[in-house]
Amino acid sequence: MDDIGICDSCGFERVEVVPVRRMYVTPEAWDTEENVEVLDDVERWCFPCRTSYPHQVL
Ligand SMILES: [Zn+2]
Repeated sequence: MDDIGICDSCGFERVEVVPVRRMYVTPEAWDTEENVEVLDDVERWCFPCRTSYPHQVL
């Protein structure tokens, strides 16, 4: 369900935003396994942010 509002990530106004959960991805390294953390808070992101940053669409 798309909506028009303010992007919680970049602050743009009057953009099409959708509810997402931000994800923090720690890439795999020689001494650590890949780690993916999904935040509990629901944010609303515009399309450019959704293409730039890891997230989970609700
Ligand atoms: Zn944005």
